[in-house]
Amino acid sequence: MTVVFTSRSTSYLDSFREGLKPEQPLTVSAWADRYRMLSSRASSEPGPWRTNRTPYLKEPMDCLSTSSPVQKVVLMFCSQVGKTEAGSNWLGYVIHHAPGPLLAVQPTVEMAKRLSKQRLESMLQETPVLSDRIAPARSRDSGNTLFSKAFPGGMMLLTGANSATGLRSTPCRYIFCDEVDAFPSDVDGEGDPVALAEKRATTFARRKILLTSTPTVKDFSRIENEFERSDQRRYYIPCPSCGEYQYLKWPQLKWEKTDPSTAAYECEKCHERFSEMHKTSFLRKGEWRATAPGDGKVAGFHLSGLYSPLGWFSWQEMVEEWLRCKDDAPALKTFINTRLSETWAEDYVSAVSTEGLLDRVESYKPGTVPQKVILLTMGVDVQGGGGTKDQRLSVSVWGWAEGEEGWLIDHQTLMGDAHQADVWTALDLLVNADWVREDGVKMKISITAIDSGGLATMPVYQYCRTRLNLGVVAIKGASTRGQAPISRGKRIDINTKGKSLMGSVILYMVGSDTCKDALMGRVRHNKLNKEGPSPGYLHFHSETDESYFRELTAERQILKSNRSGFTVPTWVKKAGVPCERLDELVYAYAGLNLLYQRYPRSKIWLYHAKKLLNEPKKPSENKLNSKSNRSGRDYVNNW
Ligand SMILES: [Zn+2]
Repeated sequence: MTVVFTSRSTSYLDSFREGLKPEQPLTVSAWADRYRMLSSRASSEPGPWRTNRTPYLKEPMDCLSTSSPVQKVVLMFCSQVGKTEAGSNWLGYVIHHAPGPLLAVQPTVEMAKRLSKQRLESMLQETPVLSDRIAPARSRDSGNTLFSKAFPGGMMLLTGANSATGLRSTPCRYIFCDEVDAFPSDVDGEGDPVALAEKRATTFARRKILLTSTPTVKDFSRIENEFERSDQRRYYIPCPSCGEYQYLKWPQLKWEKTDPSTAAYECEKCHERFSEMHKTSFLRKGEWRATAPGDGKVAGFHLSGLYSPLGWFSWQEMVEEWLRCKDDAPALKTFINTRLSETWAEDYVSAVSTEGLLDRVESYKPGTVPQKVILLTMGVDVQGGGGTKDQRLSVSVWGWAEGEEGWLIDHQTLMGDAHQADVWTALDLLVNADWVREDGVKMKISITAIDSGGLATMPVYQYCRTRLNLGVVAIKGASTRGQAPISRGKRIDINTKGKSLMGSVILYMVGSDTCKDALMGRVRHNKLNKEGPSPGYLHFHSETDESYFRELTAERQILKSNRSGFTVPTWVKKAGVPCERLDELVYAYAGLNLLYQRYPRSKIWLYHAKKLLNEPKKPSENKLNSKSNRSGRDYVNNW
């Protein structure tokens, strides 16, 4: 390195000699408490640095001390917990206390310039032991430029992760990569910028590498990847009530309905709730604990916004922000990244392609029942009602066999107002019809599941109430995660116009997301192998067209605001595309699951297959699609 002598050469020489003295056994936190001044320009709390304001920063900083055996420190931190200042303290420590060549990498050259001009310059100026060592940037030939700062015994280089040249040059004992998730994955075709930077330290036995970032997208997050390869330290704090040490988790933060001011943390052990007022105290009593073995050289630290000190970013503000952004995916992503310091799982199930599905159309005609089918169920979606246009019942009949192999037997639209009798008379024809299987066996639909969640709840209840013996049931979709495909029935007393009706209806809740997970997974992955279809394979009749498949695939999974966890995918409708056919499949499948409540799963197929053998066969020949072979479809077509 070049030492430049200026008019300040006397003090410069002194510091130069001082810099070459053996390193004192001072830790980074002790150095910061003794020397670091926070500038009024860059800090909301100007004045001397106090580590006990942010006690969780002590250990990460001290791992960067020359006395620590740790070589690499990984900070997966949210914003507003002091991560930036911890990095700055280390830079000051290096300049003053443990000089050597240092490379500081920002995501871009432009950002490196900003860091140099703002944060660094103010720290250098306001911390006397540092201003003694680095000449002001404005003096000529001072060894202090925007991208390089000379100091006795060392040199700090600043660059951007988008500049291979900047990353490539001389060896450096210290490497500081800031906001690594914003780094490009490849720089100028020379590979990963972090790897390039780290390579420069390999020749130093006592090297130190600091990587910091708020995380971004799952599987693409550099900091998460680094953290997972570390000893994964988490900050354990004692519960003010029972003393149990635990690390803070977002789902444990509770509040009354929509009132963020009631935010309090619920202890996992004693379930007492404690307010934020205890923060200062429990942060000081806290300690980092490794949650993974690690190799002793890489120390990883994870910290969420729940730890932000009093007066910085409160639990109340956190809840307010959550309520604001929970239903808006991009805002939610930012919250999860910058407040919780967790990665965001992108839509991991994209739409199933319609084209691929058209190839799967088979030769059996709609309304005919392939030989393997053992059970039939029907899903009915009620559209419109309450005087809207295009009122209709949309129905799909599905056949099922062992392993839940499924066949779309028929899908139809019965036009008519659900508040009038006609459309229900048409549905009766399907419910009562004989569906003739290839071998001539007549089959009935075992379960007809009708959605009661729309505008026609009462008519649906009325219809189902009197047809329970035909397997007609009222259902309602619930998208709560982890629900059974169909619940146990719940009796509901019907009451119209203040008058109680005879009898009641049984309502079943359908775990729509559970059903969709299962069914769409099968639509996507299950194949027709040479040996036959894989279990759960879904077959489509010869007249299944593109519009059917468009509806079937009209929903996709995204991450939604479920407080019990953040990698929880939820099914949502694509804007502007109807999805009745998917709903009908879900209801038909729920109907099949209702049968599992009545027959043991292990015996259901054999039991019904045997039962069908005893059914009278159609007297006429069993050829499919012949005029004489009337099926459910013909009943409605003739209606
Ligand atoms: Zn407790």
